[in-house]
Amino acid sequence: MYSLGIDVGSTTSKCVLLKDGQEIVHHILLVAGTGTDGPERLMEQLFAETGLSRSDIAYVCATGYGRKTFSLADGEMSELSCHAKGVSAKYPDVRTIIDIGGQDAKVLSLNSRGKMMNFLMNDKCAAGTGRFLDVMANILHLDISDLEKEALSAEEPVKISSTCTVFAESEVISQLANGADRSSVIAGICNSVASRVAGLAKRVGVKEQVFMSGGVARNGGVRAALSRELETEIIYDDFSQMMGAYGAALYAFDKAEKQ
Ligand code: ADP
Repeated sequence: MYSLGIDVGSTTSKCVLLKDGQEIVHHILLVAGTGTDGPERLMEQLFAETGLSRSDIAYVCATGYGRKTFSLADGEMSELSCHAKGVSAKYPDVRTIIDIGGQDAKVLSLNSRGKMMNFLMNDKCAAGTGRFLDVMANILHLDISDLEKEALSAEEPVKISSTCTVFAESEVISQLANGADRSSVIAGICNSVASRVAGLAKRVGVKEQVFMSGGVARNGGVRAALSRELETEIIYDDFSQMMGAYGAALYAFDKAEKQ
């Protein structure tokens, strides 16, 4: 029996297809999120690549920022619940999840059964989210995936003191104009995101093990800075960005079984 989780994010659409609630048989990430045709293209790609049709999938569960406008799902679930479900299924010893996506950052605390006990979210300000990194990569004419390499090669990170993305953008431009080393500026940008999110995490209370989900987990510069700030190891894997969709697929399986 097939179940599908689809995470309609602010910048990306992701899906995970499960067989019998256990085996991940397919997954796709498209850089086109809510408000675009990304979610529909994702479904078309899934059907083309697997040879399945919508009627072969017992239940589709949508999550993410754009879940309410996605019409091809049977039901929906919050991102918080899906990240908790996905991460705790793969890493049962995780007690804190740090999820930094394109538009918000969340810190979740889990109990030993993987149930969410507390959370804090920043969805009001772009600083401390992937958006901040996207804006900075854009002014530096870099691909988002290049920030990590640059940040990790920096000798002395520059301090970015502005907390607002718009002011920080001007600050970065003036630092570069004054001859600051690019890698040091990029390390400063990663540190700035990490320090905002570490503030959230400290308010929730950090318990080990700590897992990082969401697209920004792919940035080793932010991971390293968070690890330093929180004085703990940060676990992540190649599937970090897919965790919401994975959790949604697990919920979809539970729902399909009850039908
Ligand atoms: P959403 O679900 O809100 O669309 P994601 O969890 O998919 O967000 O994360 C998107 C963010 O991840 C982007 O804003 C970007 O900053 C970051 N990101 C995406 N791909 C990469 C990459 N290859 N390397 C580093 N960061 C990345």
